[in-house]
Amino acid sequence: MEAIEKDKKFIVSARKYRPATFDTVVGQSHITTTLKNALKTKQLAQAFLFCGPRGVGKTTCARILAKTINCQNITPEYEACGTCESCEAFQHNASLNVYELDAASNNSVDDIRNLVDQVRFPPQIGNKKVYIIDEVHMLSTAAFNAFLKTLEEPPSYVIFILATTEKHKIIPTILSRCQIFDFKRIENKDISEHLANIAQREHIEAEIEALDLIAKKADGGLRDALSLFDLVSTFSVDRKITYKNTLENLHILDYEYYFRVTDALLAKDIPRALLLLDDIMKQGFDGHLFISGLATHLRDLVYCKDATTLTLLQVNQNAKEKYQLQAAEASLAFLYNALDKANDCDLNYKNSKNPELLLQLTLIKIAHLPEMIQQQEEAKKKIDVVTETPPVEYGKNSSSTPNNTNVTNQTIKTPSIKTGSNNYNSNTQTNTTAETVANKVDLTKPYSHEALQKAWQNLASSAEYDTIKFIFNTPLTVLSENRYEITLENEVIKNRVEASRVAMQSYLHQVLQNNTIQLSIKVVVSDKPVKPIIYTSSDKWKALHEKNEHLGELKNRLQLLI
Ligand SMILES: [Zn+2]
Repeated sequence: MEAIEKDKKFIVSARKYRPATFDTVVGQSHITTTLKNALKTKQLAQAFLFCGPRGVGKTTCARILAKTINCQNITPEYEACGTCESCEAFQHNASLNVYELDAASNNSVDDIRNLVDQVRFPPQIGNKKVYIIDEVHMLSTAAFNAFLKTLEEPPSYVIFILATTEKHKIIPTILSRCQIFDFKRIENKDISEHLANIAQREHIEAEIEALDLIAKKADGGLRDALSLFDLVSTFSVDRKITYKNTLENLHILDYEYYFRVTDALLAKDIPRALLLLDDIMKQGFDGHLFISGLATHLRDLVYCKDATTLTLLQVNQNAKEKYQLQAAEASLAFLYNALDKANDCDLNYKNSKNPELLLQLTLIKIAHLPEMIQQQEEAKKKIDVVTETPPVEYGKNSSSTPNNTNVTNQTIKTPSIKTGSNNYNSNTQTNTTAETVANKVDLTKPYSHEALQKAWQNLASSAEYDTIKFIFNTPLTVLSENRYEITLENEVIKNRVEASRVAMQSYLHQVLQNNTIQLSIKVVVSDKPVKPIIYTSSDKWKALHEKNEHLGELKNRLQLLI
């Protein structure tokens, strides 16, 4: 430690700024408070198990506890005084009352026997001997067994603190003998505040955005954050840590890119999004890293959509406003769907033969979302209207089905209904009046199969369903009584049909006077050609475009003449 402090180069480190009191431990107040309370009430356990990720303060807390127990002049806040003989010894690593064993490298029976032997002698000064065993899950079975007996009946002057990153590897006999403390990942905000504090003490000028970057990269580990901070400060010029040089030194993609890509996607500007992607790739960033970063960015925007989840957003105040501004531009439906597509890309990335194309396609798909969502919303708005304009008065020509003879224009004209038996997706039908509910409750009239299929076909004549007209050519599949399925060829069509499913279902309810009818959608990829033979290239284009709407974009971009 002294060597580092004497070093003229300003290298700060995890060791130099290791907290010396409970109060200075970062981000683990749930643990330090409990430990201080135990000291206060003199109800300290004899064996502790500190669990949690690496670099979050387990060993640090163990050392503080050891030092505080032995302090000859403990403060009223139950902190070590730092000046008494015992504290001095601790601070110079000269205390005989603390014994540390790193089980990662000393995991043999002999190592443990050596430790157990020492346990027999009471402390010469101070009250307690503290044994810290780090990475305790690494002990060999034989070593574990040798240790178990001592752990079962330790002398009153001994405290064991076992630490592990892998709690699940600790055998139950040990777990049951320890008081267990779970250390958590440290929040980015806490890490960057801590770094800001150190920067100030080291007379380093650091931009808060730069410290946020370091915190993010360290992923909840303070020790990692401190070594990254060391690294960046070593490379910095004039004791200044800027956002820009941190990006460069740590090779992190500027989060500004995610804002710009999202802006482009929201604006349906595919070329801009693709150019940004190209720019990112040219800088040598990994595509997989980009897409998972974009997914995180979209997730953060989702957080901004609700005051309760806004607290989950781990960025500084300036950035928070930026996120909120962009979130305001995007609908929740867009964010959910975009997040879903980004996540799909993330999952498929490793298996893709052409990952760059997968990335591009994902961006194209996301850029199409605003349009698709708009269409869906328009379709939803028309739910109430659709039932007012029955496409065909089929009741007249279906006299062979006696059950629907009482279908009148009047019932068809009633707005969409909402009843107890109609509890699926009922939230889309909000303007239901009490009156209509009363009129319509529990409609369970029997109807014929023909009447149902006829009503289904009739939907085709509604202008509303122009873009999905072809689905009415195929009869509904009967799943069970009152449950029917629409079979479709692909997910793109499914999304369009899903937007109208409830409206179509309501129509069937009213025409057939039965509210228990349920429509569902299934995608079946057919292996035989359904379409007639296609001759001209324009026919071919049409057929292909119908299957993949993104081809339109491709055609425009390549300026193909078809
Ligand atoms: Zn002291």
